Amino acid sequence: MEKPLEGKVGVVTGVANHRSIAFGIAKAWHEAGAKLIFSYQGERLKDSVIKLVRQHFGEDTAVCELDVASDESIENFCGFVATQTDRVDMLLHAIAFAPKAAGTLEGHFTDIPREAFSLSLEISAYSLIALARGISPLMTAGGSITALTYHASRQVVPNYNLMAVSKAALESCTRYLAYDLGRREAPIRVNCISAGPVQTLAARGVSGFTSMFKVYEEKAPLQRSCTLEELGAMATYLASDGGACVTGQCLYADGGYSIMAM
Ligand code: NAP
Repeated sequence: MEKPLEGKVGVVTGVANHRSIAFGIAKAWHEAGAKLIFSYQGERLKDSVIKLVRQHFGEDTAVCELDVASDESIENFCGFVATQTDRVDMLLHAIAFAPKAAGTLEGHFTDIPREAFSLSLEISAYSLIALARGISPLMTAGGSITALTYHASRQVVPNYNLMAVSKAALESCTRYLAYDLGRREAPIRVNCISAGPVQTLAARGVSGFTSMFKVYEEKAPLQRSCTLEELGAMATYLASDGGACVTGQCLYADGGYSIMAM
């Protein structure tokens, strides 16, 4: 069977466990023939992430710490990637965080404190710019950067509050990076996938998250959200020749929920 990413190298951020969207996409990229390099966020997840990725992607899989809240950590991670490969074809950004504080993921939007706002925007959106800056010099023409977003960036989803604003910033960063990196000598594409709800660690931080599946079953044209396998297939399309002229886009993978007005 043809492997669309044979010979390609991908950098995967955001794996926390086997339910992570990043894990689903990494599986698809791996099955499509890519060699992968992973990050883990900190000591808390170090052992479990290393065990998980080596079990699924090979004992020699490269893994390095990355805390996008720290410039030093980003620099160190990008330096590590450069020691592992002389070319990168794909970068997956699957990182988001909003601190627990008044109004951030429930309650009144007006209560969001300045520090929480800055931290969420920094980790969830600025990190895409910083990683693109660090990894793009290793990328070849046709390289592909993919980030994960959610529809609350465009329409109000109660309780998404600060994460919704962070996703709006991430989507805008995607477009400006697409313009900047697309006009370089070795053009790189930048897109995001707007996924419907998926049961993950990060998602459980949003108040009332589990009730969203019922809403998608009732209202989405396909009467459901999306699976990790489907997100993996979409990210593989974006990274492959099929996505060669696609950049700056936000592609929805949500069972069609976002087209509904009622
Ligand atoms: P997840 O498994 O919890 O992944 C989120 C990842 O972000 C974790 O690996 C987390 O590490 C990492 N992270 C947080 N702060 C970080 C930092 N400072 N530096 C480096 N990594 C950091 O949840 P997920 O749902 O798969 O999330 C992946 C992406 O998909 C996120 O951008 C999310 O907003 C987006 N998304 C999710 C859904 C959904 O319904 N699940 C829908 C649409 C879009 P720790 O666990 O160590 O904090």
